[in-house]
Amino acid sequence: MPLLGPSGTSRCIVLKPRLEQCSHEFSCYIIAHEFAHAHLHNGGWGEITDREDAADALAQHWGFPKQPFEWS
Ligand SMILES: [Zn+2]
Repeated sequence: MPLLGPSGTSRCIVLKPRLEQCSHEFSCYIIAHEFAHAHLHNGGWGEITDREDAADALAQHWGFPKQPFEWS
């Protein structure tokens, strides 16, 4: 993610290795969802205040809709 400047913070996204065993669609959704969390600084998006719903909504906005969960 772009740095925000001297007073800003950066973000690091760590993906689980088992993601490579999942479908392409699910993997893309998870990666987009995590990038959305980083982009939103784990906050809401517009009127969406729940951070998980906000990350899903932004991921969908980027073209990666929520997928059924593939691991337990
Ligand atoms: Zn999340």
